[in-house]
Amino acid sequence: MTDRDKTRLVHASRPAPGEGTSAVNPPLTRASTVLYRSTSHLREMGRRRAAGERAFTYGAKGTPTTFALEDALSEIEGGSRTQLFPTGLAAIAHVFLSVLKPGDHVLLAETIYGPARVIADDYLTPRGVHCEYYAPGDAAAADVAARLRPTTRLVYLDNPGSIIFDLQDLPAIAEAAKPHGALVAVDNTWGAAGLYRPLALGADISIIALTKYIAGHSDITMGSVTANPGIADQLWRDSHVLGQTVSPDDAYLVLRGLRTVAARMAQSHAHAMEVIAWLERQPLVERVLFPALPSDPGHALWKRDFAGANSLFSITLQPPCGQAQADAMIDAFRLFGIGASWGGFESLALTYPQGIRGLQGGPLIRLHVGLEDPADLIEDLARGLEAARQSLSG
Ligand SMILES: *Cc1c(COP(=O)(O)O)cnc(C)c1O
Repeated sequence: MTDRDKTRLVHASRPAPGEGTSAVNPPLTRASTVLYRSTSHLREMGRRRAAGERAFTYGAKGTPTTFALEDALSEIEGGSRTQLFPTGLAAIAHVFLSVLKPGDHVLLAETIYGPARVIADDYLTPRGVHCEYYAPGDAAAADVAARLRPTTRLVYLDNPGSIIFDLQDLPAIAEAAKPHGALVAVDNTWGAAGLYRPLALGADISIIALTKYIAGHSDITMGSVTANPGIADQLWRDSHVLGQTVSPDDAYLVLRGLRTVAARMAQSHAHAMEVIAWLERQPLVERVLFPALPSDPGHALWKRDFAGANSLFSITLQPPCGQAQADAMIDAFRLFGIGASWGGFESLALTYPQGIRGLQGGPLIRLHVGLEDPADLIEDLARGLEAARQSLSG
């Protein structure tokens, strides 16, 4: 993240100073009904909306509060338009629904967020969309190029990949997809708030689960879709056709989270690096999967395309450790909570089935490092590793 980004996060979408009448933050506007001056005014607003203007015409089509958050996200992501959704997953589903129709072909990265894969397999495939998965990591761009068909409408990836945090060469993927007329959409939840800018690297659509670092306090779910001018208007119109909306109260809180996300993320990242330096010295830890580490296979791409890193990474335990040892480690934690999601102020741990995404070696534990003192977190991890060791000998 650059210093310019930090300024942008603080200043984006703020109301202009009034004459002693305006608060620092945009007002919270709750609405279903919006009142008009006259029937001709009502008609005029309808026309402006139909022409693509984001006007305040009905609560479900957005309020000044949700518009402020959308504008801030468009500015950070470098897109022309942003639409909010009640969850990150709903944002992903909307991109699929809006872009794909029966008979279309979509290329999905092997390493996408698990529930997105469920949408593809259990919803899109039965409705006649041809879903095909392509190889992760270094092989991704060449594999995408080889699998593109005349009917390919969309290439969809998480970067880095979910859970194993491998990186793909997005500019090379976009270059392969463009001549075929295929759109490229990226789940940018890991790189949100300026760490990564998919739209600047050739993608058409960038999706964020705001639920994570941007909301930042483990109390809200929300998603966003930001897109370039080529597709943004269609995504925006379709979201209203399908009745997608979010609560202005939640949008207000997400915008509040956005103001401090750079500071929270930088502090969590510093803690994560301390914790990782310790983990790398532990004999029971086989690997740390985190592209910010020079030892990581994705490090060169990360340095080229990312402006920083956060505090979400995975480790694998040294075999003969298996699932029982990963479970024992997590069950022994007192500070790392056991729970889904990440990007809040608190540390979390989860384990995934051994061999997930074809990963060789020991069992995998995903860690989110929060704002606790790293010395306390290291003590907690030591307690967990001791429990794993005892489980191995017991
Ligand atoms: C959490 C997450 C989502 C989904 O967000 P929800 O708000 O929980 O639906 C999507 N993509 C990634 C990478 C995530 O981590």
